[in-house]
Amino acid sequence: MGQKQCDLCAGTEFEPIGERDRHGKPLTTVICKACGLVAHGQIPTDEELAHYYATEYRKSYHGELTPSDRRVMRAWKNGERIFHQLQPHIDADAAVFEVGAGIGCTVKVFELNGHQSAGIEPGEGFQDYSQQRLLTNVVRGDLFEQPRDHSRELVLLVHVIEHFNSPRRALEYIRGMMADNGLFYVECPNIAAPFARRSKMFHYAHIHNFTPSSLKMLAESCGFQLEMQFGSKEDPYLQMLFSCSDSRKLKIDYNNYQQTMQVIRQATPLRYHLRPRYLSARFSKVASYLREHLTAKQFVADVVKKCQQFASDHEDEQPTELRVVA
Ligand SMILES: [Zn+2]
Repeated sequence: MGQKQCDLCAGTEFEPIGERDRHGKPLTTVICKACGLVAHGQIPTDEELAHYYATEYRKSYHGELTPSDRRVMRAWKNGERIFHQLQPHIDADAAVFEVGAGIGCTVKVFELNGHQSAGIEPGEGFQDYSQQRLLTNVVRGDLFEQPRDHSRELVLLVHVIEHFNSPRRALEYIRGMMADNGLFYVECPNIAAPFARRSKMFHYAHIHNFTPSSLKMLAESCGFQLEMQFGSKEDPYLQMLFSCSDSRKLKIDYNNYQQTMQVIRQATPLRYHLRPRYLSARFSKVASYLREHLTAKQFVADVVKKCQQFASDHEDEQPTELRVVA
């Protein structure tokens, strides 16, 4: 039994484009012939996903219950990058809410920069670390338990949208949480980026795979409007900032299917490895990996100290309601 309906356009015609995941295990990937959305041939149910995250995911993907120093350092730098990227586009006092906040570094970076900042994270190891070590307002919670009271001013969804069995349901839900002048930032893998190998593309946990066009189509049909795309079309990650809109019209980009097929056909090891940028990137990756090991421990110790210092400096002004809102 295959996929019945495309989550983006409700189309029912699919073409298989992959049979294995990046580890060589069977996983059928299909593309919608109408809109070009790439997804698993069989979309996991909520129960199947809950089971997967409770068992496999933690072992095979994160491999750790408590984040390592290296992971925290990377997440912190990533949070700083996101903050600096968004800063020119947001109000200086905009309240930030992150769905799937992970270690909570991004939430904390916004807080240290003067924003009211909170988040939810379902993974208990990372959420514990976030709250206890970084003193964030990240609580354990599920998106679909959040109040849809049109109050959120800036919502972040970073490397989360690809994990939903229905990204449409998630985005429609998030739209209901947001103030009408709110902003919505989404970051996820870009399947239109040059990849090492077709076989490396797919992962069970990444149920839908987006191109710039399919993410834009989906968001715009859920009540958002693209304000800004950061980076280039070939970047490995899509980084898009949306505003809220009254329109929920689905406007299908019929070129997306052909263009996505072209990228997938071209994704061979040779093409990727011959790119001059790959070679220098590869070299600096090895060098930076070594450097990371040496510096991560000190980096994280400094971050934790900074978070604690900030908390004691702001003890009196801390809005207590944020600490209990789930
Ligand atoms: Zn479709």
